[in-house]
Amino acid sequence: MAKKMKAAVFYEPLNMKMEEVDVPAISANEMLIKVKAVGICGSDVNYYYGNSPVGTADGKGPIILGHEIAGIVEDPGVLGASMGFKKGDKVAVNPVAPCFGCVPCMNGEFNECDNVNVYGVSCDGGFAEYTKATASNVYKIPDGMSFEGGGLAEPLACANYSVKKLHMQPGMTCVVFGCGAIGLMDVQLVKACGAARVIAIDPNDYKLEKALKLGADHVINVRDKNSRYYTEDIAETVREMNGGRLAHRALLPTGAMSAWQQALDVTRPGSTIVYFGQPSSADAVLHIPALEALQADRNIAFAWLAPLVWDNVFNELATGQVKVEDIITHKFSLDNIVEGVKFMRESKEKKIKGMMVID
Ligand SMILES: [Zn+2]
Ligand SMILES: [Zn+2]
Repeated sequence: MAKKMKAAVFYEPLNMKMEEVDVPAISANEMLIKVKAVGICGSDVNYYYGNSPVGTADGKGPIILGHEIAGIVEDPGVLGASMGFKKGDKVAVNPVAPCFGCVPCMNGEFNECDNVNVYGVSCDGGFAEYTKATASNVYKIPDGMSFEGGGLAEPLACANYSVKKLHMQPGMTCVVFGCGAIGLMDVQLVKACGAARVIAIDPNDYKLEKALKLGADHVINVRDKNSRYYTEDIAETVREMNGGRLAHRALLPTGAMSAWQQALDVTRPGSTIVYFGQPSSADAVLHIPALEALQADRNIAFAWLAPLVWDNVFNELATGQVKVEDIITHKFSLDNIVEGVKFMRESKEKKIKGMMVID
């Protein structure tokens, strides 16, 4: 008889419940992991409320959500053991498990794998006492890093990949649109790349003040007219903040379509813009004035998932180059994870990142 565990099983929108299920059985190339911390991602919230379908073949449950996973090795499996993992190791999980055999994988474009499995999105993930992962998707957590930090390695990896595509150089000014968890990581990364000025934009002063604390040089509130950071004309304000010039770079960890237009407005000829927030709807369209963009010699890029950046992520977390303690604002137990997911959408409390933590 298989051992049993507690897990939050998602069946369909608004129907996720705590159940007793079998502890996952592992094959030779998989590891069994005792879950310690799992971030609640905006996409988990979207799945719960039916704003986007889960990644299973038919877009339906049952599935255990949660893809930002850290824990302890319970059973390293055959491959994991041969890689030097042992029971009790502290680990973080890269949820994107490529096939290593398709054409994108042959080119190292693992984020575009034709046969990808994503833990917590297309197959079971971390909102449970145990989870399993292919050994090649499991990384040891370096000394000095917490399980919470390990759980945030995945969003931080996405932030790293977006900044990689930004091609920052020392002395540049970058505007970061959106100060959610990933936006606040981006602020720190862009600054670490040598940005002379980082200007953070959000409709929420609480988040803007976090951005200031984490290294933003200036902030702009785009919505709240009562805010001391509010401005009507964003481009003009960026100019004022930036010595009379528009910005070299814009980074968009937001799906707000208004920001997609504003990014064109605040950047100068020759600039680079990286879009990577999940658009607010599946048929959202990005309008780019063709002649203006051509004559301005613009570089417009997108960043999807996070291939080939995880090594840097662990360095950033272990050294404190990227601080995550201020980003995690709410913690929930496994028993309360359904409430936690709802809280992240419905609560009026000041919040940025929620995590499930198992003591
Ligand atoms: Zn995520
Ligand atoms: Zn592949």
